[in-house]
Amino acid sequence: MKTDSLATFALLIASVVATGAVVESARAEDANNPGLRSKYVRVEGLANPIEAEEECDAILRRLFQRYGVPQRWRQFPVRFSNRPGGAIAGYTSYVYPNVTETVIFQSFAEARGGTLDHELTHAFFFYFLDSHFDLFFNEGVAQNSEYAKRGELRVEVARRCAANEFARLRTLCGRGEYDARLNLYVQGFSVVDYLIGRAGSLWFAAFLQALAPDASNVDAALDDFYGIAGLEALEAEWLVYVCGGQDRESTRAVK
Ligand SMILES: [Zn+2]
Repeated sequence: MKTDSLATFALLIASVVATGAVVESARAEDANNPGLRSKYVRVEGLANPIEAEEECDAILRRLFQRYGVPQRWRQFPVRFSNRPGGAIAGYTSYVYPNVTETVIFQSFAEARGGTLDHELTHAFFFYFLDSHFDLFFNEGVAQNSEYAKRGELRVEVARRCAANEFARLRTLCGRGEYDARLNLYVQGFSVVDYLIGRAGSLWFAAFLQALAPDASNVDAALDDFYGIAGLEALEAEWLVYVCGGQDRESTRAVK
């Protein structure tokens, strides 16, 4: 899920340009349509679905390069809704083993680099991990994909740090419901950003694979993958990173 209160962060970081070969393999001729259509998603509710499907393929291609390629994928609809979503900018629903739909309550232009990337990251990890996984890392990694919002997210992280508005990580990790301050999103983004800075995206994806079957293993998984002795130790390191200006170059690489 993606909420509008976090949908106002501005463009900073350009997207990664991906290779053409993967694009072609991601698209198939559709006898009912003159253009090439995505085999991963089916965009509905837009006058020009082809453009949006190309963007969805580009987003997924970046996710495959960043985290790995899922074992299986079943095409699902990405529906742009005219109905106002209220506080909700979009959501993705699942009925195991498939994603059933992604719904976006924004225009394509508004959702690009933000909610669309966020929701497709949820869909990607559902297939990549063949599972739901805990809400904290799930929202954190989805926020991380919103490249158009990262700059303002980092500003919000710094503000909450200065205002002492963070929740303890132990109360957020593995959580099955949303907190009132949406620290799941803000701290989730920043902790994921820190861990990816430590050892890269593929290593982080392997960490999530270890964590997916049982979120209560988080302390052991942090030790195994990062040499961090549990959530409190991670929290202490992460706060040093945040207070030090969120400089990824300052993070200690995992050997
Ligand atoms: Zn979400």
